[in-house]
Amino acid sequence: MIWNPEVECRGEAELREQQLRDLTELVQRVYKNVPFYRKKFDEAGVSPADIQSLKDIAKLPFTTKDELRETYPYGLLAVPESELVEVHSSSGTTGTPVVDAYTQKDIDIWSEAMARTLAMGGAGAGDVVQNAYGYGLFTGGLGVHYGARRIGANVIPISAGNTKRQLMIMRDFGTTMLTCTPSYSLYLAEEAKAAGIDFKALPLKAGCFGAEPWSENMRVEIEDKLSLSAHDIYGLTEIIGPGVSSECEAKDGLHINEDLFYPEIIDPATGEVLPDGEKGELVFTTLTKEGTPIIRYRTRDITYLMRGSCSCGRTIVKMHRLLGRTDDMLIIRGVNVFPSQIEHVLMQIEGTEPHYQIVVDRGAKQLDYVEVQVEVEESFFSDETKDMEALRTKIVGEIRSALGIGTHVKLVEPKTIERSMGKAQRVVDKRQL
Ligand SMILES: [Zn+2]
Repeated sequence: MIWNPEVECRGEAELREQQLRDLTELVQRVYKNVPFYRKKFDEAGVSPADIQSLKDIAKLPFTTKDELRETYPYGLLAVPESELVEVHSSSGTTGTPVVDAYTQKDIDIWSEAMARTLAMGGAGAGDVVQNAYGYGLFTGGLGVHYGARRIGANVIPISAGNTKRQLMIMRDFGTTMLTCTPSYSLYLAEEAKAAGIDFKALPLKAGCFGAEPWSENMRVEIEDKLSLSAHDIYGLTEIIGPGVSSECEAKDGLHINEDLFYPEIIDPATGEVLPDGEKGELVFTTLTKEGTPIIRYRTRDITYLMRGSCSCGRTIVKMHRLLGRTDDMLIIRGVNVFPSQIEHVLMQIEGTEPHYQIVVDRGAKQLDYVEVQVEVEESFFSDETKDMEALRTKIVGEIRSALGIGTHVKLVEPKTIERSMGKAQRVVDKRQL
């Protein structure tokens, strides 16, 4: 189902015209109302009058996460504080939190973006959406909530955690759509199996999973274990929360709500804008946001844009599933490694479970040392040890051939690696750099 075909399926000329109109209006608004942007534009020698075409956006300076932190809490506010109706923020576990402040119009935009997202995942009026994203300052919970209300679904605001209760609610209330992080969905599957619950016997049909990167092979695991159609959704607090982009039934890239969030791909080293199809860092400008509009925000996420028709009928641009992050990228003995690449290898090997951790340390000779801990099926531990050794050697070989690096692989029993109720910690970097 397409929630807003007029916008999601319209012609490119009409879209471009609207984007340019909103961009010029936005640039004037932030120049007038936000001293932070006025100063940055002045220093870059660019004025609102210089934005005559969409290409001119490249004249505007980027905004970085550090700048969002430096302006905490309200340095980017573009409206009087009295016009705000809701505030969210990142957890701040890795530094000062990032704030997203919303006017009523911003909440309406967010609801619309999330309505499109949930509809893309197959939900509509009459569906029962079990929302296991955390409610609170984190944008995941309320973002999904607003979208589910907008499409007329029945939303169960259960929030994150309390796995036994999640399973009970799922069975008793006839949940048809589940929303949570992909790693938590697998944890639910594990607990359900232990409790003797068969997902095939439940009305659950779809899930929208996001807030952490996950691979195509993990999708296969999730769809198989939870007996549903799994859709990737993407968003970030800095832009609005979830609702920036999501997968339709084609599951071949995430449609970006580009009428609201203008995407660019840049070379992370030079800042140069790259053509569609080229891999680089994703950058967003919030075209319509009022409370805390963002100009050319560097997400640090690596992907590429896919323009052209989609079998679902939508014409809005797609982005490939995240290929990694500029700040998650590990440099192992001079080789660039994304944790998702290791995950991709692991998921293709029979006998491994989708739970793993990558530990990077520096050995006695100052050489980087990578240990990949991966859970394997119970049966391996009862079998002959030579089977374990064969599996271990196979994983080492496959990682070497895919990534070009040697690793130490440690096979561990199921449920050894710590489970997360939110984002899974895939990498532990112990190197003192
Ligand atoms: Zn599509």
